[in-house]
Amino acid sequence: MKILKYPDKKLFVKCKPVSVFGPELKVLLDAMWETMIEGNGMGLASNQVGLNFRMFTMLGPKNEKFYIINPSIVSASIVSANLKEGCLSAPGEFLVLEERKSWVKLKFQDETGQEHEKVFKGIHAVCVQHETDHLDGKSHLQSKSLHKATRKELAKKWGFKLK
Ligand SMILES: [Zn+2]
Repeated sequence: MKILKYPDKKLFVKCKPVSVFGPELKVLLDAMWETMIEGNGMGLASNQVGLNFRMFTMLGPKNEKFYIINPSIVSASIVSANLKEGCLSAPGEFLVLEERKSWVKLKFQDETGQEHEKVFKGIHAVCVQHETDHLDGKSHLQSKSLHKATRKELAKKWGFKLK
């Protein structure tokens, strides 16, 4: 799969919930996983490869494979993670976002449709928040917690309008 880079419009579109679970979905997730690993990424949201489903792949804390479908963050720490995050759609750009929490409890479904609730910590918590934002069409490059001058610079560099 081809990874879309900013300012591709698909990266700003809110993805639709997944309602059909079956072999076709697994094929897409496997292909996303391969693409993410090849790109040395930790997470990849479906709209980063031109799809429109609320799902992402993530390399877990024990290097396990996570297929996260229809995610929602149900609770989170008050404390910020204060960790740098990168993005396969903005190669070479690493940012620390104040709003990222140091842990989050995530409700999601796996590729069979089974529901799970799991706490992710540290960089994995940041990854979950980053990918969930992708599915809402939100970019870390446009985070309101960044200084206006930084956002202006990022908008110019990655070719989108400053919000
Ligand atoms: Zn990203």
